[in-house]
Amino acid sequence: MTTLSQRLKDPALFRTESFINGQWVRGETTFEVHNPADRGHLADVHDVGESGARQAVAAAAAAFEVWKKTSVFERARIVQRWNDLIIENADDLGALITAEMGKPLPEAKGEVVYGAGFVSWSAEEAKRLHGETLATPFPGTRGWTIHQPIGVVACITPWNFPSAMITRKCAPALAAGCAVVVKPAPETPLSALALAELASQAGFPDGVFNVICGEAEAIGPVLTGSDVVRMVGFTGSTSVGKLLMRQAADGVKRVSLELGGNAPFIVMDDADVEAAADGVIASKFRAAGQTCVSANRIIAQEGIADPLIAAISARMEKLKVGSGFDGGVQVGPLIHDEAVARVDNLVQDARAKGARIVHGGAPLAEELGGAFYAPTLIESGENYGLDIANNEIFGPVASVYRASSEKEMIRLANDTPYGLAAYVYTRDVGRVHRLTEGLDFGMVGVNAPMVGSPATPFGGVKESGIGREGGKWGVEEFTELKFVLLGGVDA
Ligand code: NAP
Repeated sequence: MTTLSQRLKDPALFRTESFINGQWVRGETTFEVHNPADRGHLADVHDVGESGARQAVAAAAAAFEVWKKTSVFERARIVQRWNDLIIENADDLGALITAEMGKPLPEAKGEVVYGAGFVSWSAEEAKRLHGETLATPFPGTRGWTIHQPIGVVACITPWNFPSAMITRKCAPALAAGCAVVVKPAPETPLSALALAELASQAGFPDGVFNVICGEAEAIGPVLTGSDVVRMVGFTGSTSVGKLLMRQAADGVKRVSLELGGNAPFIVMDDADVEAAADGVIASKFRAAGQTCVSANRIIAQEGIADPLIAAISARMEKLKVGSGFDGGVQVGPLIHDEAVARVDNLVQDARAKGARIVHGGAPLAEELGGAFYAPTLIESGENYGLDIANNEIFGPVASVYRASSEKEMIRLANDTPYGLAAYVYTRDVGRVHRLTEGLDFGMVGVNAPMVGSPATPFGGVKESGIGREGGKWGVEEFTELKFVLLGGVDA
């Protein structure tokens, strides 16, 4: 039987060069990738820098001319083959995610399957990019629309979903007929390069799918500045999203931005308290709280706040923290020590401002030997001025606030520049409508702690982003809608 480290370094999936124009390309320098659970060295990955980015863009531009004319059925066949290979290799892809990002192995495999769902969905959905026949006011004319692939797409992705954030963008782009250049996060390039290996096996023509690793400051301006790149798809922080949007403005490129969140998790007096506590645990501790849709502010109505805190607390006592490779672990490490320090600063700010720490409240780096933070529960009362209320926590820290009226809860929930996901727990059907319509967020889970799926639109409003991934909307994002008017029809 192969050991995990042998399996991880199986040359079939363990790549460290960039994938450009169907070739594995080395850089002049390398950067290190570490396992956040034990700080162990995993790989030295090649940095192909600005010249690699230029090569990848040129290769994608040439490949696009052929790929866009390839029948959608043929494109779908190759995209579907990519899906099948991802599923066949889900165990190894999951292990790579756990090794470089830290999330527990079952959760990592879940990410692979979730991410593959977008590949399979896109393969089917691209076949349904129908145009429409339109009425025209001009005698003797006919009008119709067609969807055409937008062109070369640059995809810049984060480390918290090293696999799914790539497939969620690239699969619809590829199926729609675009050529893609991906720049993954430097913390998690191995998952991206493994996906490139599988794309190569799936049979994408050279240059259609490229993955380049290296310094963002060198690669980013090439991607946003190139005339042939017609769209920048970005998932990451709001600050970098704004920067890329400014850079893309010069070329009037389309941008699709999946940015940060500050999700309210509203629990009304009439809610099922046990279901709400289960929902908090599922939303808050997945990926150790490092998700953009993680419950950031748990806003409980006065009558349910105490039983809710007790129910969350009882569940948190049972959470197992450790390496994602250890059986039964539910909470892995944070991505690195700087993330631990950042989360701890937020918690210490809350403590200093009078919030009650019910559980945890400190790093576990000494005890566990990696970038760990104790699952933490904070009772913040009515103190919405805390740093944890106004910043994306991105760590395993649940903070519960109290409020009295429904109207006030909606006001508090919306009092943020972000607008990605919100959650509502209530059994009152009128409230469901008032709250879901009143919340300024792109997605609302009602009595449900997770909202994403390949069939549904994922995305935010306000400073959480522009555009939607998933469903038919996710494929349409990568197309231009063209109108055609034909004259001289009625002779
Ligand atoms: P980040 O710091 O914004 O980085 C994301 C990606 O952008 C990385 O590949 C990064 O590479 C790159 N990047 C940074 N500066 C760049 C530049 N000037 N030009 C080009 N690329 C640049 O975000 P992160 O810390 O990795 O991810 C966490 C954030 O992502 C959170 O805010 C989270 O909410 C958000 N997120 C949102 C969604 C969603 O769907 N809305 C999903 C997941 C995560 P370097 O590291 O090399 O700079």
